[in-house]
Amino acid sequence: MNIVILGVPGAGKGTQAKMLSERLKIPHISTGDIFRNAIKEGTELGKTAADHIEQGKLVPDDVTFGIVKGRIGEKDCKNGFLLDGFPRTMIQAEMLDSLLGETGRKVDIALNIDVPDAEVIDRISGRLVCPSCGANYHKKSNPPLEGGICRECSARVLQRKDDFYETVVKRIETYHLQTKPLISHYSDKGVIVTVNGTGDITGIHDRIMSEVRGHTR
Ligand code: ADP
Ligand code: ADP
Ligand code: ZN
Repeated sequence: MNIVILGVPGAGKGTQAKMLSERLKIPHISTGDIFRNAIKEGTELGKTAADHIEQGKLVPDDVTFGIVKGRIGEKDCKNGFLLDGFPRTMIQAEMLDSLLGETGRKVDIALNIDVPDAEVIDRISGRLVCPSCGANYHKKSNPPLEGGICRECSARVLQRKDDFYETVVKRIETYHLQTKPLISHYSDKGVIVTVNGTGDITGIHDRIMSEVRGHTR
């Protein structure tokens, strides 16, 4: 099954994608994580990505698509994948449709995690991430261990450089302008599944699982 996850920054895409990927046994591909790794490693991709990410802007479509195309061409994606944070523009969605179409595949489910803007501002300003394993935390609702230690791998968690208030507001604006139109794109194709993304994390996961099961029946 090929799934893409849509949602405003902070909607819980990463959190839910990790759980869903384990449940469905398909790889979780986060373009944000790929860019952050490239930045950490200081590669050319990392330099290009950092210039855009730190200003709250999207990384150019051709660069982003090139990365995704390479990744979903790998063996482990043969039986499906979970794209978290891609596509984010209409052009990316069209490039993905035509790439999958070449091999008779398609996006089976576009999962839209719905959370109001006001709530995501609070979530993102409290977000902490593990630089080592990518686990996600929140200062209040989902804290790491005492002293900011990752529960998965014991590394020290950090605040992301693009999670400061001004950048967050800019990213939400970018979402409304460039990403939100994808909801009707996938709705026209009959693959949109919208889930209420507020409330506790396991409750949301359960709602997603029952929608995914219902959709594949
Ligand atoms: P996204 O990938 O959509 O940007 P994340 O999964 O990184 O979102 O979640 C953003 C922040 O909100 C993280 O700090 C995460 O721990 C927290 N979070 C995720 N789901 C919920 C929820 N249901 N309620 C409260 N906080 C949440
Ligand atoms: P969030 O969902 O919290 O905004 P992500 O980790 O998905 O965070 O993305 C972080 C940043 O990486 C984005 O603000 C954007 O600059 C860049 N990025 C991620 N995915 C894409 C994409 N599909 N197209 C362009 N830029 C992207
Ligand atoms: Zn960790």
